[in-house]
Amino acid sequence: MKIVRNLEQLRKLEQKIHLDGETIGFVPTMGGLHEGHLSLVDVARKNADKVVVSIFVNPAQFAPHEDFDEYPRTESEDLAKLEARSVDVVYLPIQEDTFPGDFAVKISVGEIGQILEGVARPHFFDGIALVVTKLFMQVKPDVAVFGEKDFQQLHIIKKLVQDLSMPVKILGGKSIREEDGLAMSSRNVYLKEKRSVAPVLFEVIQEVRDRIVTGDADALDWGRREIVARGFERVDYLELRDGGSLEPLEVMGKPAKLIVAAYLEGVRLLDNIEVVNII
Ligand code: AMP
Repeated sequence: MKIVRNLEQLRKLEQKIHLDGETIGFVPTMGGLHEGHLSLVDVARKNADKVVVSIFVNPAQFAPHEDFDEYPRTESEDLAKLEARSVDVVYLPIQEDTFPGDFAVKISVGEIGQILEGVARPHFFDGIALVVTKLFMQVKPDVAVFGEKDFQQLHIIKKLVQDLSMPVKILGGKSIREEDGLAMSSRNVYLKEKRSVAPVLFEVIQEVRDRIVTGDADALDWGRREIVARGFERVDYLELRDGGSLEPLEVMGKPAKLIVAAYLEGVRLLDNIEVVNII
């Protein structure tokens, strides 16, 4: 496994892989790696000849009050996990090289970045689009893999690639969960005495899904109340959206996503599940 910290080295590897007629599958991450990230590595491996993983805690997607400084940084453990998964190249860009003081370009993903997660975090998806674009220009992947756990992010990256005609195929990887159902996340390490409450989120959205498919008009409100009644501090949103566009669902019978963000011990937890057979 090659560990690369500067762009020149990375470009040499990229050029060699492509000159050899091989393809690159890319998994961008912010580190704090868990089985969810590693499952995306497996998807990349199945769909490309060489796998490149980046670890970069992207300052452009954190607001000043958010957890940029505290975000889990576990480089040596991460590298061991990637090595065990036979990753070919790990790219660890240096903050100052990536976003130097005179960095000026901005990307706006438009309205789609202002709904759901974007209501609480209006600059979040623009920051993600910026770093993903930059990483794509550097790594030049043929395929890139993102988790369905961050469903809005996956949707926005697909749109970014389509709008800017980027020559990369975007694949989604399914959400990997702890044994008790909690979707894995690097931020789960922030959960302390209420960790045992966290699976409530997945349990309740499954029950909401079951209520929706039987035509219960109160299902979403019930879910919002139930998540709080069972120990969460606050539900930011629990919504049923068109799985293709993320617009509010207007035509029943289309594949839909039930998407939730809620706070437990001050930690923002996200989850989503598919809803089919809506009456
Ligand atoms: P992050 O390091 O949180 O930026 O995540 C890097 C990638 O891993 C993103 O594409 C996430 O959607 C994906 N990811 C995070 N958690 C999971 C999970 N539990 N299952 C599958 N993919 C995940």
